[in-house]
Amino acid sequence: MQSGQEVFVSAVVPMFNEEGSLPELYRELKAALEATGKPYEMVFVDDGSTDSTAELALNLCEKDDRVTFVKLSRNFGHHSASTCGMDHARGEVVVLLDADLQNDPADIPRLLEKIDAGYDVVRCWRQGRKDPVWRTIPSKFVNWLTCRATGVKLHDYGCSMLAMRRRVVERMSRFTERNRHVSGLISWTGGKVCEIKVRHRERRHGKSRYNFASLLRLTVNLMTGFSTLPLQIVGVLGILTSLLGFVGAIYLVIKRYVYGVDLSGVVVATAVIFVFVGINFLALGIMGEYIGRIFTEVQARPYYIVESVFSRKRATGEEQQ
Ligand code: UDP
Ligand code: MG
Repeated sequence: MQSGQEVFVSAVVPMFNEEGSLPELYRELKAALEATGKPYEMVFVDDGSTDSTAELALNLCEKDDRVTFVKLSRNFGHHSASTCGMDHARGEVVVLLDADLQNDPADIPRLLEKIDAGYDVVRCWRQGRKDPVWRTIPSKFVNWLTCRATGVKLHDYGCSMLAMRRRVVERMSRFTERNRHVSGLISWTGGKVCEIKVRHRERRHGKSRYNFASLLRLTVNLMTGFSTLPLQIVGVLGILTSLLGFVGAIYLVIKRYVYGVDLSGVVVATAVIFVFVGINFLALGIMGEYIGRIFTEVQARPYYIVESVFSRKRATGEEQQ
């Protein structure tokens, strides 16, 4: 590759059946990266495409020594392909962007300006989003949930274009979990984050790979990956229902035996059902709590992240756990 020259910026592009977009993306990306005046590379990841995406990328790789091409053995999904690209990038700054030209590579110099200004992560906020309504409305709700779960408020977690410093990429490489939401995890790692407004464009070739089911899967990954709150809610629901059942039952007993009121079978049965359903929920909640603990252990996330280690013998900025 760049004959020993260090790479400053790596553009990482996950691709799944993007033969229509790739040639144009390459041209736009190259122009944008040249404009930065910094040494750069492009890392194209083919996520098991069934069209000619891989051949096209291989051709680019042969004629341009700034292109790295990584081919996955099958389709692993957008987030896995992005992670693979990040692992293969060597730049001091890594820019993630989609292959479908919905992100405008011409925004890259603006992202780099913010990195130069000292930010660790620069996120993008799509203006005039060119996606169908069934995507944009739920996306607002998911964005709100993500802000709450990660504690980092952003306008647009759904935008996959972003720039991050090498140290963020390295932190990300320590995550071992299988079901990952890259955008959310980047927030979880901490650091100085800012957001810029970017243009969003229509998808010109092919169509979105996300359908309702895959978006729901991603949202569940996001929620269960960041908190055990859903499990706790089940537990609380159990406590409330059984309490309600017990109070109701006591009330009925008093009514029957103190005041001698005749009770219909339905009322008694309802109280009994409440008690047992409540106990069931409670049991589920307790089990959930244990499963939640196993779950966080199995994820094996780093327990803490040290910002930097100062030593007279070695360079600062190194990270240790
Ligand atoms: N992508 C991928 N693997 C997949 C699905 C998508 O690498 O299994 C890539 C895709 O080629 C594109 C990016 O991820 O570069 C975003 O995908 P898409 O445009 O379908 O998502 P949307 O813009 O609709 O959120
Ligand atoms: Mg897209």
